[in-house]
Amino acid sequence: MLYIDGIWKESESKESFDVINPATGKVVDTVAKGSRKEAQSAIDAAQNAFPLWVKLTAKERYIYLKKAADILRGRVDSLAELITKEMGKPVAEAKGEIGLAIDYLDWYAEEGKRIYGDTIPASSPTKRLMVIHQPVGVIGAITPWNFPIAMITRKLAPALAAGCTVVLKPSEESPLSAMEVVKALHEAGIPNGVVNLVHGDAKEIGDALMESPVIKKITFTGSTAVGKELVRKSANTMKKVSMELGGHAPFIVFEDADLDKAVEGAIASKFRNAGQTCVCTNRIFVQKSISEEFAHRLKTQMEQLVVGNGLEEGVNIGPLINECAIEKTESHVIDAVSKGAKVIYGGSKTEGEAFSKGHFFNPTVLLHATNDMKIAYEETFGPVAPIFEFETEEEVIEKANDTIYGLASYIFTQNGARMFRVSEALDYGIVGVNDAMPTVAQAPFGGVKESGIGREGGKYGIEDYLETKFISFDFK
Ligand code: NAP
Repeated sequence: MLYIDGIWKESESKESFDVINPATGKVVDTVAKGSRKEAQSAIDAAQNAFPLWVKLTAKERYIYLKKAADILRGRVDSLAELITKEMGKPVAEAKGEIGLAIDYLDWYAEEGKRIYGDTIPASSPTKRLMVIHQPVGVIGAITPWNFPIAMITRKLAPALAAGCTVVLKPSEESPLSAMEVVKALHEAGIPNGVVNLVHGDAKEIGDALMESPVIKKITFTGSTAVGKELVRKSANTMKKVSMELGGHAPFIVFEDADLDKAVEGAIASKFRNAGQTCVCTNRIFVQKSISEEFAHRLKTQMEQLVVGNGLEEGVNIGPLINECAIEKTESHVIDAVSKGAKVIYGGSKTEGEAFSKGHFFNPTVLLHATNDMKIAYEETFGPVAPIFEFETEEEVIEKANDTIYGLASYIFTQNGARMFRVSEALDYGIVGVNDAMPTVAQAPFGGVKESGIGREGGKYGIEDYLETKFISFDFK
């Protein structure tokens, strides 16, 4: 169902689409297919709600966000099951995502109270200079399916806390999880029109948002290709943009690393969400003297990973989102092998009756990966770990930075000086030093180069929803 001006509704055309469970191929639910018309109604509702929402105090807005967080906290089990059915990640991972999604609501509910301004020393004794921050206005938020609720609250929580109203367009792969976030806000009593949800035709809804002068900012998480298109379209109405785009994370293991920790980190970072995260390791660089030992230990640990329907107990690797994702993953393996890589684990689709209706790919390790392979420069978005060897620190920094992307990176070493040197030399927005899971609500998340513009999370995340106003008083 669409949610516009506080009312749940079908689309005017009565068109709908099916949400498919990627593990079973079965229909999870059928939902309304919104179009440009519904997007426009949602924009109008958000515009009408803005004067009221902006006038509330930060404490009043805090109450709505906190209540929504509490409602979600009470629904973790059912919501996790829904996420798993809708997009495939194992239930334990879905619960982790819900925890992060709630953290954003909790954190920004509080942070809204700390939107401070400045006073600036004047150049004249009769003048006083003041800087205040005000909400940007109506926001268009477009989100992907791979974190179907955390990517939503990471945008909605700072936007609402700052005093903005929102039109949300989630991915058509995961509208059900989006509805649950909006339901929680609705039940928390958020005024009509402050949050609106329109899912359906991505291009039509996207164009309505991009063309509208009412939408003052677009916040997008998704692929770099779509992000670029949205940035181009934003120029016509000079919208602010926040772009959380693709990544190609290097995971660097030096010979002085704690190898067990590095292997554990590589598995967490590479195989979470079956390799379908923007911060997933894409290239594992291992210093030559330890590469065989690392590969052996990685393979041994991977033998414990269980592929299957994420609803089943003990499953670590769920399905990929759709058949295109399988094809891309398979093509990366075939290309790498044709150029000299050796498959030491996995390497193909998961066979067997239990997997025949879903989109499953075996967790895979490739040895002897090289820079000319597609996997070295394209985002795989699947469970394939290619191992590249390196000799020196300088060499690996150059190789790690040799990509159009710059989102997350990881280094494993026990040498303190190297931790500083390498983390400062990497052209990435995020560096995990002996830390494969750095994302938290209170820290900035985002990339450089073609991984995006802006930051989400922490005190930085709310700045993108605020304008800066300078007020000069002269009382001469
Ligand atoms: P995607 O194809 O770019 O889609 C993202 C969102 O954009 C979806 O809601 C999609 O709608 C919508 N969309 C597609 N075409 C559009 C258009 N012409 N106008 C307006 N909206 C449009 O990306 P995805 O496959 O869902 O997600 C995977 C990508 O997201 C990866 O590249 C990943 O690295 C990136 N990602 C980045 C971050 C980050 O924080 N940097 C986090 C997660 C994911 P439909 O799905 O309905 O088509």
